[in-house]
Amino acid sequence: MEKLIEMPIDSKPMTTIAENIADIQKRMDRAARDHHRDPSQITLIGVSKQQPGSRIDAALAAGQLVFGENRVQEAQMHWASRRDRYARLQLHLIGPLQTNKVAAAVALFDVIHTLDREKLADALRAEMVAQGRTVRCLVQVNTGDETQKSGIAAQDLSRLLTHCRRIGLPISGLMCIPPQAEPPGPHFQLLSALAHQYDLAHLSMGMSADYEQAIAAGATLVRVGSGVFGDRPAL
Ligand SMILES: *Cc1c(COP(=O)(O)O)cnc(C)c1O
Repeated sequence: MEKLIEMPIDSKPMTTIAENIADIQKRMDRAARDHHRDPSQITLIGVSKQQPGSRIDAALAAGQLVFGENRVQEAQMHWASRRDRYARLQLHLIGPLQTNKVAAAVALFDVIHTLDREKLADALRAEMVAQGRTVRCLVQVNTGDETQKSGIAAQDLSRLLTHCRRIGLPISGLMCIPPQAEPPGPHFQLLSALAHQYDLAHLSMGMSADYEQAIAAGATLVRVGSGVFGDRPAL
């Protein structure tokens, strides 16, 4: 057996994260080509939630510029000081959004993946007008009909999209988080079919364990956390 070198969590070597990113990009490209898709149409979102700042800096040093966070407050901590140094940085909110955090979210994020109700759509639209800032929005669909999970039921999607159109809030695409205990394939297929039906360009689906499968089903945004940064430290 090889001897394991003990390493404090904050000193994960830069090369490892750079190598993870390069490896994932290579696998994404292969998955795209295998399914006759253009690899340049698929974006890797590095999900930096719960990761130490040193790992985020390593990803930035490796050239990664697209990141996902699931909490507004944590995202502010991670990105307030880093944002200004990277003009092309793109921040994606992939966790649930409360209406009292909408102002902060519109100020910080470039894309919000978790729009799932009319009240939130109204708040986002009003805040974008107030701040003079455009944030792209995706609607989260609860494809597994899980009662505890956020996201709108597939049968209510049409009504929400109509509402968004009426208030002048453009919707770029759909997002889902398949139930943990189920194979994700059917959920990816359902989301893809809904995006086709409503003529929406973007599909946010696929995480560390299944991003290649998501690309096979049409994903344009894959959200990869531990695959990029390593396991999240226990909270
Ligand atoms: C944490 C998270 C991810 C990334 O999960 P990994 O399994 O670490 O890749 C993707 N999407 C959402 C919505 C998440 O909350």
